[in-house]
Amino acid sequence: MSLPKFKYHPDPLQTGSVIESEIECECCEKARGYIYTGPVYAEEELDDCICPWCIASGKAYEMFDAEFTDYDGIGNYGAWGDIPDSFKEIVARRTPGFLGWQQERWWAHCGEAAAYLGAAGKDEIEQYGARLKQQLQQETDFNDTQWAAYFENLSKDDSPTAYIFQCLHCGELGGYSDCH
Ligand SMILES: [Zn+2]
Ligand SMILES: [Zn+2]
Repeated sequence: MSLPKFKYHPDPLQTGSVIESEIECECCEKARGYIYTGPVYAEEELDDCICPWCIASGKAYEMFDAEFTDYDGIGNYGAWGDIPDSFKEIVARRTPGFLGWQQERWWAHCGEAAAYLGAAGKDEIEQYGARLKQQLQQETDFNDTQWAAYFENLSKDDSPTAYIFQCLHCGELGGYSDCH
């Protein structure tokens, strides 16, 4: 069984937001072989017990009033542009989120939420290229000396970590980084 398609999170298995698991979903009450491991914003405790199909269909949102990404963090409270609610609703309610060290923000570009590609450290960012590196520096407000030291420490698995997205319109890479 292949996973549902998520426009804004194209490979949630690769990013680690969905894992193979025999856990039964709290929403559809089926063990479908995969479970969502990212953040859940809901009254109930729903960590690691929602399947990706119930996220994609909107069923988990409807049943538990659950969102998987902080709504206002989509577009970084307006800092990354004015994102229409129709896009934010799909990201928050029908898309797997991801775990950051701090409250997650969802990068946006060209007036729409971007696709989440995953966490990245120094090595991954260098493969993505200089333009992304520059964009990530701009998000930090660090000067070149501060940034150079910070960049050396960026890690996919350990703080600080960068979160990489790609614009669905122009293909531009972007995102931000945080630490604990
Ligand atoms: Zn389910
Ligand atoms: Zn763009």
